[in-house]
Amino acid sequence: MKIGKIIKVSGPLVVAEGMDEANIYDVCKVGEKGLIGEIIEMRGDKASIQVYEETSGIGPGDPVQTTGEPLSVELGPGLIESMFDGIQRPLDAFMEAAQSPFLTKGVSVKSLNRSRIWKFVPTVKEGDEVEAGDIIGTVQETAVVLHKIMVPFGVKGTIKSIKAGEFNVEETVCIVNTEKGDKELSMMQKWPVRKGRPYASKMNPVAPMVTGQRVIDTFFPVAKGGAAAVPGPFGAGKTVVQHQVAKWGDTEIVVYVGCGERGNEMTDVLNEFPELKDPKTGESLMKRTVLIANTSNMPVAAREASIYTGITIAEYFRDMGYSVSIMADSTSRWAEALREMSGRLEEMPGDEGYPAYLGSRLADYYERAGKVICLGKDGREGAVTAIGAVSPPGGDISEPVTQSTLRIVKVFWGLDANLAYQRHFPSINWLNSYSLYADNIDAWMDEEVASDWSSLRTKAMSLLQEESNLQEIVRLVGIDALSEGDRLKLEVSKSLREDYLQQNAFHEIDTYASLNKQHKMLKLILQFQVEAERALKAGVYLDKILKMDEIRDKIARSKYISEENINKIDEIGVELTAEMDKLISEGGVLDA
Ligand code: ADP
Ligand code: MG
Repeated sequence: MKIGKIIKVSGPLVVAEGMDEANIYDVCKVGEKGLIGEIIEMRGDKASIQVYEETSGIGPGDPVQTTGEPLSVELGPGLIESMFDGIQRPLDAFMEAAQSPFLTKGVSVKSLNRSRIWKFVPTVKEGDEVEAGDIIGTVQETAVVLHKIMVPFGVKGTIKSIKAGEFNVEETVCIVNTEKGDKELSMMQKWPVRKGRPYASKMNPVAPMVTGQRVIDTFFPVAKGGAAAVPGPFGAGKTVVQHQVAKWGDTEIVVYVGCGERGNEMTDVLNEFPELKDPKTGESLMKRTVLIANTSNMPVAAREASIYTGITIAEYFRDMGYSVSIMADSTSRWAEALREMSGRLEEMPGDEGYPAYLGSRLADYYERAGKVICLGKDGREGAVTAIGAVSPPGGDISEPVTQSTLRIVKVFWGLDANLAYQRHFPSINWLNSYSLYADNIDAWMDEEVASDWSSLRTKAMSLLQEESNLQEIVRLVGIDALSEGDRLKLEVSKSLREDYLQQNAFHEIDTYASLNKQHKMLKLILQFQVEAERALKAGVYLDKILKMDEIRDKIARSKYISEENINKIDEIGVELTAEMDKLISEGGVLDA
């Protein structure tokens, strides 16, 4: 191919001429060192290239060569437990090759390890008809992930030969006789990251992705195959929410993209995940996790690539029939990189300097989430659930990135600086957050968890809403203006906030609550209201009811009851009824 010449370098943006053989989105090798870049604009023979490595040291006159291929990822065994940079270079192997803890420029290493040997077990035999998406064999990639080797897109034919045994990802394991002749298949396939992987059909997501986080599962659930945004100012808890969902979300595969945030947060993930046991399998969480790191100290231009690399890997596991979650922390850093590039390209700026295509780029990403029927004859189902953190400057969610995101995603977990300041965590504001999946999921919960789930949920939510109105009245005219029933409501909603919504991510037991536990806790807290109203009707003074310290303390501490003992929560309910009966039979006289 013809070699172009650099005419301008502007930070991560390089403009080269003599590139008439290249196409938009081609990957190029830039400069003598062959830095990796991607063409983002073509004008005549001039290509504007965003370079994914530091561009210091290259300048006009240096060569540029297109590879003629779009930015692609390698998909196959060896993805799980790996940590890649934005363009899928394995960070451990990379550092070894470069002999440095820093990312040395132009070092090329393969994404998937070629020296690693995998045991391939065929699931089809000679003479079988196969087409794209059909599973031809499996590899036990980690203790918990059975990697399914699929016929790549565009291949259809008859199995001519297939062999069991030990192979690396490049060796041929199967030959398919197609219309165009024999096609050799290895365990690895490639896919261009900017293009969504195909599926048979998209389904309406109705089941929740259970996260074990009460405020999320009960009030603002995200569907398996849905998308959610977590906007919040610095320190409000975005990263902790993403870590919690990654750790506890009931998905089979987790892809975690650290995009433009501090490097030590990725180190936290690297340190914590191997230690943490998956509640379902008892194995380390890393055994089902892929990490993509493009932290704040790494090249800005690769932030966009890291997002696409992540979602493509997520789709690939979806295609195997798995439920996958992908976290991106933070999508604002990616948007800022887009803005920077757009500025250097001298494009017409839109809102707050972001390019006019900000919204469509965000949509391109989130729309790759979904629940699908996968390609392949067995009609398996897979899902990608996408959770994106957004970091609006100053926490002002009217800014373009938050607003564009909220136009696309159906779940909004709005983190609130005041709540975080009061150490109410997770600081998800229950008054402005929402989930548009809630109706579907309510039906699922009533069916699968408890028939009164949605009625409890509705009741709790309206109490919390009423609380903010009542608080307004108290501010204006004082607590004495309220009836006993309203004062009781304030007490119960306080209990909902403190005993239910607040959940300590760092407490051994409280960090995760099953749906059954959530249901029992919610029922117990609301039972207090029902019982107390009964007592009020029988003439008991509210003050007397509120002094039931022992039982109220038990309600407050029910979050610390372990999953094995959740029936104890029901016992507290029985005790509560008995105590209230006693109070009523004693009569409502106040203590002297
Ligand atoms: P952000 O990513 O929004 O800047 P972080 O996720 O790093 O914020 O959270 C900041 C701090 O808030 C954490 O280090 C932790 O101390 C506290 N925090 C956040 N969420 C929780 C939680 N669910 N439980 C306990 N502490 C939390
Ligand atoms: Mg953070």
